[in-house]
Amino acid sequence: MNEFQTELARRLADLREQGLHRELRRVDSPQSPRVMIGGKSLLNFSSNDYLGLANHPALTKAAMQAVEKFGAGSGASRLICGSLAPHHELEDALATFKGTEAALSFSTGCAAALGTITALVGKDDIIVIDKLVHASIVDAARLSGAKLRVFAHNDLDDLEKILRWADARTQNSKLETRNLKARTLIITESVFSMDGDLAPLREIVTLKEKYGAWLMLDEAHATGLFGEKRRGLAEEFGVADHIEIQMGTLGKAVGAAGGYICGPRVLTDFLVNRARSFIFSTAPVPASAAAARAGIELIQSAEGESRRQAVWQRVDQLKNGLIEGAWPLPVVRSAILPLLIGDETKAAEIAAALRAAEVFIPAIRYPTVARGEARLRLTVTATHTAADLAQLLETFASLDPDL
Ligand code: PMP
Repeated sequence: MNEFQTELARRLADLREQGLHRELRRVDSPQSPRVMIGGKSLLNFSSNDYLGLANHPALTKAAMQAVEKFGAGSGASRLICGSLAPHHELEDALATFKGTEAALSFSTGCAAALGTITALVGKDDIIVIDKLVHASIVDAARLSGAKLRVFAHNDLDDLEKILRWADARTQNSKLETRNLKARTLIITESVFSMDGDLAPLREIVTLKEKYGAWLMLDEAHATGLFGEKRRGLAEEFGVADHIEIQMGTLGKAVGAAGGYICGPRVLTDFLVNRARSFIFSTAPVPASAAAARAGIELIQSAEGESRRQAVWQRVDQLKNGLIEGAWPLPVVRSAILPLLIGDETKAAEIAAALRAAEVFIPAIRYPTVARGEARLRLTVTATHTAADLAQLLETFASLDPDL
């Protein structure tokens, strides 16, 4: 090993010592309740494919048809030559689904956050984020150069305190002289990705209106599962029309890959002009846009509703089964059920013991969650059967959480 490699090997050894080392596990099958890993079929409770659409025939067929009609690649960024019909069809479907004037798709949810946040705010502005928002939002907020303030998780008093401070600060901004106004942008998630709990959206909307701030909501883990039309938690709480920027990903309940922003047409027009992750990146391949559109359409169908109901049934079965045992669950209403372990090494050991028992649940550790808050992140999907859940519960019953 040369000096460069020795240094990296030392850093990896350091991560191992802290129980923070990660590695890729090759999966030799499509996403489904069972996945082939290392030649074994494991019960899969790890994916965000909540409605079981990633391998649904409607999506795979749409992807194949798009390949046949538009080819494998997209050729260039959307603004150069890659704005293919499947992208436009996806955006029309997204806007209709979400009930917004317009939608813009990105290659990933990360790219949507990065491009949108850095386009909307800069060094004269203020960003206020929940302590537990996704890493892509934190990175985008830092990159934007705006003053960053973090409020304690779902803590409305803390949020209001920061908004009061932000209000005073933006009122005095020198920008007013250029007919622009310094802005405060609040960003939160609706269902938190590693905790599965919900943001108090109604109260956040009341606060943002009181202080004249903008609100960006990441519905990554709520789209397809909440609201009468399965648009997300903003729909369920009746506040969608009060949210300036609705964001999400196409890689979870939608069953494909990509990210999106929904809102007024001026927002998407502005992002086409200013979101650097959109402008300077090759357009997603036609197959992925077509699959995402098929996913959006399926979510809105009667089948989408019955799949949503199946998710909640499985969640209830699991919660009722675990509550009796030694693995207490936090009281959350989502398809994400975190089992808090705490110590990183112990969480990794329990995940390994689960794999040995043919159950795949990842140990989520720092930096995805705070140090000392490692957890098993258990996710339930519409395609799990009652028998899958029974097997999971049996496995838990036979495992010692104090391993
Ligand atoms: N926001 C949240 C809350 C997420 O959990 C994720 C994905 N882990 C993203 C954004 C990023 O989406 P994508 O995977 O499409 O980049």
